[in-house]
Amino acid sequence: MGRVLANDFAAQWDEVGADVLAAIERVGRSGWLILGEEVSQFEEQFAEWWGVRHAVGVGTGLDALEIALRCVGVKQGDRVLTTPLTAFATTLAILRVGAEPVWVDVDDTGGLNLEAARAALIGDQRIKFLLPVHLYGHPLDLDCLAEIVEETGVRLVEDCAQSAGARRAGRPTGTVGHLGAVSLYPTKNLGAYGDGGVVLTNDEEMAKRARRLRNYGQDGRYHHVEMGLNSRLDELQAAILTTALIPNLDAWLGRRASIAQSYAAALEGTGLRPIRPAGGSSANHLFPVEAVSQDPATVREAIMATGVVVERHYPVICPDQPACGQAGETVGTLSTARRLADREISLPIHPQLDDGGVKQVVDACRSALRQPTALL
Ligand SMILES: *Cc1c(COP(=O)(O)O)cnc(C)c1O
Repeated sequence: MGRVLANDFAAQWDEVGADVLAAIERVGRSGWLILGEEVSQFEEQFAEWWGVRHAVGVGTGLDALEIALRCVGVKQGDRVLTTPLTAFATTLAILRVGAEPVWVDVDDTGGLNLEAARAALIGDQRIKFLLPVHLYGHPLDLDCLAEIVEETGVRLVEDCAQSAGARRAGRPTGTVGHLGAVSLYPTKNLGAYGDGGVVLTNDEEMAKRARRLRNYGQDGRYHHVEMGLNSRLDELQAAILTTALIPNLDAWLGRRASIAQSYAAALEGTGLRPIRPAGGSSANHLFPVEAVSQDPATVREAIMATGVVVERHYPVICPDQPACGQAGETVGTLSTARRLADREISLPIHPQLDDGGVKQVVDACRSALRQPTALL
């Protein structure tokens, strides 16, 4: 039995390497390297795949978030309600625009507790922006999000870094808010061969603004109307995405779903509670479980000792990160976020993981749960 990795990019290369090389060759021969036909093609194809009117290719997921926040009007000193349990980039994007994160607790699915968020927005009218995350690829309740927007007038950006392929009530994530932000970091459901990101929106004006912000804030050549970034998706990455990766995306999502189903069936009712969405279909970016009855560190070590690599998403909640300094405000004690940060274990889930690997992971979990020393 070999090791089971959290991701396997070498195995991915066996599948797509020839197509990646052909895409690189196409760009090389075209003589055009930045913001050309390949990026336009990618944006069109990705918007259609996602089910949104406009997609704007940018440099990273973090930049996609920052640009989206600026497009909805977040400014220095504004308050942005968000989740404490996420990649730090979610909080960092808020800090980078000079705004104050207001962290509200999550629920047992790992996602923002929307009733608590609604109450916080009603209780503090100074909070005009909302940045939830479809964490693990689990779609939040999109109808409830729409209701909150309607009821409070809050401006919504959805962090869709992990939710490419997720749906709730037949609808993709990222389409309730004014904008969605996607990461193309290699581990994500659609990962480039390097960094990349996408801003999603149905609003033409917002799309225009995002295009301007990614390119030095310029309106036309050498005409800079606002402080922009340099955050452009490369022609090379766009070319690879368009002809080597997106054609495989649905099959890869299918494989993720089937692995998730196997894990859920094998672990339901055990001491490793699968953390699943409350509704809709997850994009299965991660397969998180919660060690409910045993010491999580001991369980993690026992699984790792069998050669199965497990990870944590995320061990330290955002407000506890030193980079926040005195910035931001927490609502309540964030006890669920803290509990999940302590007890969550991410099992390997990626499209190249075969049935043998899945069985190895399940066996490793079962044997870790049987270890008497692991009891709390
Ligand atoms: C990966 C990720 C980001 C950041 O994306 P990058 O492309 O790495 O900048 C932001 N939010 C969440 C939830 C993520 O998982």
